[in-house]
Amino acid sequence: MKSLAEALLACEALSLTQRVERVPLSEARGRHLSSALSVAQDAPRWDQSAMDGYAVNWREASKSHVEGADRHYRVGQVIAAGHPPQALQEGEVARIMTGAPLPENADTVVIQENVELIDAERAEPGVWVRFTQRPRHVGEHVRLRGEELNVGMGLLDVGRLLNPAGLALCASQGLTSLEVWARPRVAILSTGDELRAPGTALEVGQIYASNATLLQGMIEEAGGVAVDCGVARDSAEDTREGFLRALAQKPDLILSSGGVSVGDFDPVKGTLADLGARLDFWKVKMKPGKPLAVGELAGVPVLALPGNPVSAAVSFQLFARPLIKRALGSSVEEARLRRARLPLLEPIEKKHARAELIRVARRTSAHHGEGWALAGGQSSAWLSPLERADALLIVPEGEVSWGEGTRAEALVLPWATC
Ligand code: AMP
Ligand code: MG
Repeated sequence: MKSLAEALLACEALSLTQRVERVPLSEARGRHLSSALSVAQDAPRWDQSAMDGYAVNWREASKSHVEGADRHYRVGQVIAAGHPPQALQEGEVARIMTGAPLPENADTVVIQENVELIDAERAEPGVWVRFTQRPRHVGEHVRLRGEELNVGMGLLDVGRLLNPAGLALCASQGLTSLEVWARPRVAILSTGDELRAPGTALEVGQIYASNATLLQGMIEEAGGVAVDCGVARDSAEDTREGFLRALAQKPDLILSSGGVSVGDFDPVKGTLADLGARLDFWKVKMKPGKPLAVGELAGVPVLALPGNPVSAAVSFQLFARPLIKRALGSSVEEARLRRARLPLLEPIEKKHARAELIRVARRTSAHHGEGWALAGGQSSAWLSPLERADALLIVPEGEVSWGEGTRAEALVLPWATC
């Protein structure tokens, strides 16, 4: 039996096969680049105005500009964004809009608030203007070609998580699609004679199967593609067929639930062995989630999760989710659940030896402020406290006695709203 820390390390040593796919920008948010991108076009591509105003050759004009004197400039042209300019003639200025290309011979933009039209309503070619305030320096209000990015320099590193700004950056470089790590395909196999599909009638002893729904949601949250491979009865033959059905889906990861404990009808481990699977470890010193088997079947990592829904959920979050996140390009650290340390709003006493992951909710108390409260009963069969939980409080191996107010660390569930 492995300690929780050992089991986590053993799973970090596993990795899923990574595949590359090209996706349109509109589908790339939240994905990780599978190859680095470099700058293909200078940004900006040409010198341009940063303001609505008047382009002037201030290097020249400033020589003859006498403070207080009423120097007039003729407007030679109006340059709107998206339209090519003509070269600026001597003594002229050009009316220019934000983002419009700076004309040849101009080096500075005077903002329109500092320019007065002489006997005219609109700045049109032929109109005369004067500056009410001179530019502070040559180059004022001009964005120079390549001042942000130059051709050849790095744009985004391999592995970069694509956020809206990153996608806009790619669009601004003219890209329409990106190469990202493909979503891993995760096969789900539920086991148990008692399982029936929701929507059907139940006989005595039967229950509705809910783990496939649970796992599908968690796989999709992690960024994977869930492939439900149905239910296997608790016989070696049916379980074997179930795993072969899963393999036929060409998955990158197989998750089974149930049948991996020490009961008389727990065929998963034996069946995997018969199929020639490699077994890395079985059982973790943790609660919930002790009966976990981890190995590889025909080159595909297999996590045989416990059947109790909360055990399956906790094991998934600790051991399976990081595998999916890493296949999608997250680092080992990014792939782990976020941790948050807050005071306990009620005491915690633990007598058993295993590490425990207690389902807690983030609540506010008058005394301690924000803290962790039990989300409900801690049975591994109870889904309702898991539904209310924000995090899994980490209680280490051995006897633990923590008073109210003790600051304790919890793994925040990915769907928590806090
Ligand atoms: P097992 O690990 O197969 O002994 O299952 C442990 C408990 O989890 C039993 O009470 C099962 O009925 C329950 N269980 C197993 N699989 C599922 C499932 N897919 N959905 C809901 N409960 C399940
Ligand atoms: Mg079972």
